[in-house]
Amino acid sequence: MADSIKGQGREEGQATATREPMGSFKTGRFRRGIRMPAFFALEERKTWTPILEASSIFPFLDFDGTLTEIAPRPSDVHLSSQRRKYLQALLAIPGFSVAVISGRPIADLQRLIGLDQLYYVGNHGLEWSPPGGSKSSHAIDKPVTDALQSIHNRLRPVLANRKGVYLEDKGTTLALHYRMASEDTALTVKSEFVRAVHQHQQGGLGLEILAGKEVVEAKPTAANKGDAAAYLLEHYGREAFPVYCGDDLTDEVAFHRLDKKGLTILVAETPRPTAASFFLRSPNEVYEFLRLLIRLKNTK
Ligand SMILES: [Mg+2]
Repeated sequence: MADSIKGQGREEGQATATREPMGSFKTGRFRRGIRMPAFFALEERKTWTPILEASSIFPFLDFDGTLTEIAPRPSDVHLSSQRRKYLQALLAIPGFSVAVISGRPIADLQRLIGLDQLYYVGNHGLEWSPPGGSKSSHAIDKPVTDALQSIHNRLRPVLANRKGVYLEDKGTTLALHYRMASEDTALTVKSEFVRAVHQHQQGGLGLEILAGKEVVEAKPTAANKGDAAAYLLEHYGREAFPVYCGDDLTDEVAFHRLDKKGLTILVAETPRPTAASFFLRSPNEVYEFLRLLIRLKNTK
């Protein structure tokens, strides 16, 4: 691993001559050659100081686009055994709690990841479960669930016979995926979805639209990823240093909530406006980061 990171990181490190990259440390806890490939500031010593000093760390990790590459359909996603091992290695570090925080339902996350020791936050914060515990869900007002059902019913005929679109009913949220659709089809179905949600919003319902990557979602406003992460931190990791990684617009509220307290990392191929302080370019780089975290905290 060190070689690949070293190889990729060196060129970029040279571009930041005024900074102090981790690879230049001659002594201390850093091994020579360990470098972050993507973002210069993640290589800086001061970025890692609170992590090295913290007795407990609480990583919050988004799933699709962060721990796995995004697939055409949510059901196509798979977590490799190698990647699962990194999550296990994180969990094995004394003082570490780890949460996976996603727009997917918890049952889906548990099936895909299969680790009991994780905190799971599903449906954008509407449901969550502690390690080995049972699921808690935010109560959703009946008019809101009725509205979601009504949107679903309205969309069904619109989507019939249209290629590449998929309506995912997640119980408390409704997601329209159009990754595999033509541009025209995507535009049509998205407009119809948004119009349907707007009609209910005009009645004053607590329903919001989330725009994701080739997906648009209707979600009750009762919870979000930021509130969920802040809640877990407050109740299960009050002293912990939070590290939040995510690639979605829905992660922005969490970046905003946690940025002053911890390390916030946007996963994006190219940088975009964000409340996060750092970025990595891909799930592969997220695992490079996690491997570095595991190595540094295990050799402390
Ligand atoms: Mg994501």
